[in-house]
Amino acid sequence: MTRIVVVGGGLSGVSSALAIADASPRDEVILIESRAQLGGRVSSIKDPKSGLLLDNCQHACFRVYDCFLQLISRCGARNSIKLQAKTDLPFLQVGGGRLASLSDGRLEPPNHMAGSMIKFPFLSLSDKIAMRKVIKELSEMTSEQMSALDDLNFEQWLIEKGQSQRAIDRFWGFFVLAALNIPVSQASAALSAFLFQRGLFGDAHAFDVGAFTSDLSDSLHPHLLRTLEESGVEVKLSSKVNSISRENGLEVCLREETISCGKIVVALPHHLAGRLLSEYSEVVEAVDHLEYRSLIGIHALHSAEVLPESFTFAVCVDEPIIQMLFNRNSEIDEDKMPEGVGQWVSVPVSCGDEWLDWGDEQFLEEYRRVVKGTYPDLWNEPDSFIVIRSRNATFAPLPGSEQYRLSQDLISKDGIYIAGAWTNTDWPSTMEGAVRSGLLAASSLLDDNWNPEKKWRWWPSPPKRGEDGWRVW
Ligand SMILES: Cc1cc2nc3c(=O)[nH]c(=O)nc-3n(C[C@H](O)[C@H](O)[C@H](O)COP(=O)(O)OP(=O)(O)OC[C@H]3O[C@@H](n4cnc5c(N)ncnc54)[C@H](O)[C@@H]3O)c2cc1C
Repeated sequence: MTRIVVVGGGLSGVSSALAIADASPRDEVILIESRAQLGGRVSSIKDPKSGLLLDNCQHACFRVYDCFLQLISRCGARNSIKLQAKTDLPFLQVGGGRLASLSDGRLEPPNHMAGSMIKFPFLSLSDKIAMRKVIKELSEMTSEQMSALDDLNFEQWLIEKGQSQRAIDRFWGFFVLAALNIPVSQASAALSAFLFQRGLFGDAHAFDVGAFTSDLSDSLHPHLLRTLEESGVEVKLSSKVNSISRENGLEVCLREETISCGKIVVALPHHLAGRLLSEYSEVVEAVDHLEYRSLIGIHALHSAEVLPESFTFAVCVDEPIIQMLFNRNSEIDEDKMPEGVGQWVSVPVSCGDEWLDWGDEQFLEEYRRVVKGTYPDLWNEPDSFIVIRSRNATFAPLPGSEQYRLSQDLISKDGIYIAGAWTNTDWPSTMEGAVRSGLLAASSLLDDNWNPEKKWRWWPSPPKRGEDGWRVW
């Protein structure tokens, strides 16, 4: 029996701990999390004024998030997620109110969205003709070809491929900003190419959008905790790891106790992993090169509707700040709706670094301009308008950053494994990336040689469209 300590109870640490416990029940697994809840950056915060639990930001998932959805299923949390029955990505003309969707039709990938794309009013015919060639090229790219693009920024690559500024702003740039949390002009072309190949053009079902049916903490924490404990994992909440020592074998040092163990998984954001593993120059050097980008979450709580009844979410075309609107009423269960709230609108501001210092009133002005300007007849002032700023939301996938995303087994010779959405998973810093990193660390620790293109064999399969037991949005 080996004692294994996992440091960090975000999705990467939880996945690692659970995967090890499931695959190797004889081992003793201890998960240590500094906060009172599991879930890490997928969390809700109590608003001091209203007392409401509000998500740090809108968190979207997609059907292509295989490992994340396997985790959800393994933890009995299927009710926490709703997935679109069919891809539908509405784009909204702010002011005019025109809505047009990109959706999948009858053609095979990568052309499954071609039907809706032909009718898409926010791009010209020549934009669309030029895009077809690039879509084909992206969908046929090998992983070696993709990796070779890491030193380029994606905008530069798109310009070289003849893409118009309008197509970059309204199509390519939007997806990069929303999924990689970085403007297209700063994004690694390698990770951007991966996003389009894997997320949009590789599989007709990949981009079915998913939403949480309650606040993030309620959706995840109780399910994760129960499942870990049922699997024999000892979960220590509100316990911070201060250091790791190798002087007398491996030891994890907390304020009140020191835990001896055979192996450790460090599942922390990159700057914290660098601090805990400061004796490893290869770790410190890499994390010093990685930057963060922020995300800002806005919650507007209205006493009456401000969006049309059928509205689920939409991309706001050409809007740099109010980039998207999500109708929380369409996502969350009725009994989770706070009393007296007629409409709950949630707005994620991806890569909001420029606006971190803005006051709430400035965001409200923008929000009012967009929503009132588009649906003037429905407008009513929000009773509460809350802005939550997360500075270190995701690592920044800048050109050249792939080399600093460390392999989970880099320092495994010392019994230490690294997980976290920033480690090398090929995926951007997402919930899926976090779970994958945890599974890769577990696989390496277990000597299991898992192929991440295949499902994690100890957990239920990810949901196919139309599968029973999964909720539809
Ligand atoms: C505002 C916001 C919006 C986002 N939106 C999306 C989205 O829509 N879709 C999507 O897929 N992804 C989204 N992401 C990204 C996603 O949430 C993260 O990539 C993922 O949750 C990271 O998981 P992790 O386990 O790698 O790290 P974390 O979640 O940061 O987990 C690390 C854990 O370690 C704990 N910890 C830190 N120090 C110590 C210590 N010394 N001892 C013990 N524990 C410690 C922390 O409390 C934390 O719980 C968003 C992120 C943010 C912040």
